[in-house]
Amino acid sequence: MRVYLDNAATTPVAPEVVEAMMPYFTEHYGNPSSIHAHGRAARAALEKARKTIAGLLHAAPAEIFFTSGGTETANLIIYQAVHHLGVSRIITSKMEHHCVLHTAESLFRRLKIDYVELDEHGNILYESLEQLLKNQHKTLVCLMHANNEIGTITNIARVGELCKQHGALFFSDTVQTVAHYPIDLQAVHVHFISGSAHKFHGPKGVGFAYIRSDSMLRPLLHGGAQERNMRAGTENLPGIVGMEKAMSLAYARLEEDRRHISGLKKYFLEKLRQHFPDIRVHGNEAENSLYTVLNIGFPRKQDSGMLVFNLDIHGVSASAGSACSSGSDVGSHVLAALGVTDRYEGVRFSFSRYNTTEEMDYTIEKLKEIIRP
Ligand code: PLP
Repeated sequence: MRVYLDNAATTPVAPEVVEAMMPYFTEHYGNPSSIHAHGRAARAALEKARKTIAGLLHAAPAEIFFTSGGTETANLIIYQAVHHLGVSRIITSKMEHHCVLHTAESLFRRLKIDYVELDEHGNILYESLEQLLKNQHKTLVCLMHANNEIGTITNIARVGELCKQHGALFFSDTVQTVAHYPIDLQAVHVHFISGSAHKFHGPKGVGFAYIRSDSMLRPLLHGGAQERNMRAGTENLPGIVGMEKAMSLAYARLEEDRRHISGLKKYFLEKLRQHFPDIRVHGNEAENSLYTVLNIGFPRKQDSGMLVFNLDIHGVSASAGSACSSGSDVGSHVLAALGVTDRYEGVRFSFSRYNTTEEMDYTIEKLKEIIRP
C-alpha cells in the first residue's frame, strides 16, 4: 500500500479535471491572442474560466488575473504595491509562506517590515495588529488566510475591518483555502488574494491573482498585452481550464468533502492519541484549523528523528513542513516562530477527498512499527 498524506504540498489532479483539460491540448490549441477561429475559441474558453472563477469568489471577472500560481501572485502583489501604490511598510507574520516573507524581505531597502505577534498556536494577536496599524505609514498588511504547515486559520474579515479603519491595503495568501472554504470577496475587505490550482486537485503551474478594481497594479512581467496588460506571456490555457474545472468541482462538493476529510482528521487524531499519548498538536486543535491539515509533534527519543523519512520507507508520504523546506535541513520557520522546541519532531499529515479510513489505519500501524516504546 502507498498512502499519500501530503495534500497541503500538492494534490492529485482529479480525473474530471484531466478530462476537461485534454481538448485544450489536442483540439483547442489556439493562442487566445490570435484573431482567427482557433484563437477566438481559445479566447472564449479563457474568458469563460475567468468568469466562473470570479463568480465562485463573488468578484468581478476584470479583477481576476491568471498567473503561474501562488508564488508569482505574491511577488506581483507585494512588489507592485511597493513600487506603484506607494507602500512603505509591510505588516506580516513570521509564519507566512516564504513566497510572502522572502519577497517582503527582498525589499528591505525600501520598506519597514513589522511582524504581528502570534500565540503558541499561530493565532495572530489582533490587538498587536491594531497597535501596529496606528503607525502612520502607507501600509500593506500580508496575512495568510490559513497556514500551510499547522493549519491555523486567521479571521480575514476581522483583519480586513482593521485595515479599513486604518486605511491599509490588505493582501491575504488564500492558497490553502480557495476551493476548500467559501470565500466571498464582497463580504471581506481585502484588496488582493492568491490562488493555486494544484492545491485543489487542479494542475501545477497555474493560479490567479485577485486584484480589487480600486487597487489596480502595474505588471511584474513585461511583454505582450495578455491579461489586460497585467501579466505578459501566452496564457496556460489547458491549465486555466483545469483550474476552472477543479474549482467548480470543489465548490459543488464542498460540504461532502469537508465532512469526509474532517472525519478522517478526527479519526486519525483519536487513534494517534490512543497509541501515542504524549504527542501534541501544533496549531489549533479543531476550531480555526484547516480540516485538511494536522501537524503533530512526536516527542523525540534518543534513537528517533527522521520520522518522515521512515514513514516514506514504510509507504506513507507525509511531510516535515512545507514542501519547499523539505529536502533542506533547515527546520520549519513556522514551528520556530511558535517557539516549538527541539524536544518535538513535527510531522504534517494533510488529507484530501481521495484518502480513506483504511489509509489512516495503515499509517497508524506503520507509526507503531517505527516508534517503539
Ligand atoms: N502560499 C501557501 C500558503 C502555500 O501553501 C503555497 C504552496 O506551497 C504557496 C503559497 C505557493 O504556491 P505555488 O506552489 O502555486 O507557487
